Amino acid sequence: MKVAIVGMGTAGVSILRQLVKHEMFEHLEVDIYDNRKNMGQGEPFQNDSEDLLINVPVDMLSLNLDNMKEFREWYASQDDFDYGDAEYLPRYVFGHYMKSYLDQYVKRYDNIHVIPHEVTQIGVVEEEKEISVKKIIVQTDEHEGRSTIYDYVFLSTGTFSYNDPYHLKGSPKYIYEPYPAYRTLDEVSSHDKVAVIGTGLASLDVIRYVLNHHDQTLVLASRGGQLPSVRGEMVTVTLQYMTKEIFDDIKQNHMGNIPLDILKELFRKECDALNIPFKSLIHRRTGNVVKDLQYDLAHPESLGLLQSFLMELKDNMNWIWNSLTNDDQQLFLERYYQYFKENMNPMPRDTAQFIIDEIESNKLRVYAGLEKATRVNGQYQLQFETEHQAMIVDVIINATGPKKKLSQLDASDGLLLNMANKQIVQAHPIGGIQIVSESNEVISPRYGTLSNLRAFGQMTNGVNFERNGVTMIVQQAVKSVTQLYAQLEEEYDAD
Ligand SMILES: Cc1cc2nc3c(=O)[nH]c(=O)nc-3n(C[C@H](O)[C@H](O)[C@H](O)COP(=O)(O)OP(=O)(O)OC[C@H]3O[C@@H](n4cnc5c(N)ncnc54)[C@H](O)[C@@H]3O)c2cc1C
Repeated sequence: MKVAIVGMGTAGVSILRQLVKHEMFEHLEVDIYDNRKNMGQGEPFQNDSEDLLINVPVDMLSLNLDNMKEFREWYASQDDFDYGDAEYLPRYVFGHYMKSYLDQYVKRYDNIHVIPHEVTQIGVVEEEKEISVKKIIVQTDEHEGRSTIYDYVFLSTGTFSYNDPYHLKGSPKYIYEPYPAYRTLDEVSSHDKVAVIGTGLASLDVIRYVLNHHDQTLVLASRGGQLPSVRGEMVTVTLQYMTKEIFDDIKQNHMGNIPLDILKELFRKECDALNIPFKSLIHRRTGNVVKDLQYDLAHPESLGLLQSFLMELKDNMNWIWNSLTNDDQQLFLERYYQYFKENMNPMPRDTAQFIIDEIESNKLRVYAGLEKATRVNGQYQLQFETEHQAMIVDVIINATGPKKKLSQLDASDGLLLNMANKQIVQAHPIGGIQIVSESNEVISPRYGTLSNLRAFGQMTNGVNFERNGVTMIVQQAVKSVTQLYAQLEEEYDAD
């Protein structure tokens, strides 16, 4: 069986890890595609500043679901990186852990072929005779279009390109991509006033880097002005009400779906059972960043409980999220998502203290209500909803996060757009492309469910809602690879 993995970051390496484990691996020929820079490390874990940290503690991040300490053990066993007994290591160290497995496999197995190029097109081989499984053709620009036909393709090309909410892409001193962070100050002179726009996890990375390497007061501006919460003390949570069994019972009485009101009720019951003071936690924010971060730092237990609960929901999100109708998903996004988002991806405690210190020493100023950013006389003008006067800065670093919908994409995401144009993939109304949630099979408007084309990562965000962390990606890789081998075994049994 001829297999391609397109994109060799977390998902690609995880898929390969699962493939090589199986006794039938020798029956595969595997081509792996990525550019040389990211091959084996991906975007988030590329070589970058050591100020950029993983967002979960070392002991909770692993490519091996049977051994959550594997990354920790790998770190302890090597001599290249030494950050002591850190709880949060720099992200690039995780990238080298991933890459060490790729290097090891490539050395050991001669049925793995590294193709250090990006894929420019993917097509489905049209055959006159109707067959159930169609072959997939993969093309790169190398040698004026090298194309190869595969029985099975894993599509794992990572996040879509970044949002550009104020249409400034291409303007001088507008840093459209916040990564690698160590390049963001390349064109910035020492007296330039810098603003970072966006207050998600990407902006925390950039803030840390810029404050450590640039002497001027930094402006952080966004619409909401809310930073993520601070990680509390994590505990093990067992769900009692939001379980598959209870969902199945309710779905039987509601034509296969869970109405949002019932979901809310189950959520409330779960909070009560876990003694989570949900209402007070959800309304704890005052809008004063220092006060809010200090509150979080002072309440690690209750906050940790809430975050642990949300993490457990994230682990089960495939069947929870996909039980809702599209209308209810949309309603959830409009009414409640903001509260989840703030608490689902918490920042390390050290980062929170760092931000408080920088605000108190006047090196960082945070502004909410950003409405517009425009280029005026060689500088940038930031305009706000309310009391602030327009502000002038020399440089803007865009940390507003990646696009989510196919309709927002441009040439930077040419491969996906091209696949949509050929009707191989189609948009999910919430975001990304349509896949089967349990198997990651691509649902094509032209060919139906393509069991031999599997998609992973942020491009599946409409179905895999909030399921793009390392652990969840590895879970999906394990499932899909098991299904590949089941198909292979069937083929061998039939022969
Ligand atoms: C800044 C940032 C920080 C994060 N930090 C964490 C964290 O600390 N912990 C955590 O659990 N999750 C984190 N995440 C979530 C993260 O997205 C996932 O954990 C994971 O890295 C995503 O894996 P992926 O394989 O989908 O994407 P990536 O790891 O980015 O891999 C995609 C790969 O595809 C390649 N590619 C793209 N286009 C093509 C093409 N046309 N042909 C061939 N190759 C292509 C890219 O070069 C890249 O190497 C972070 C995400 C971001 C954006």
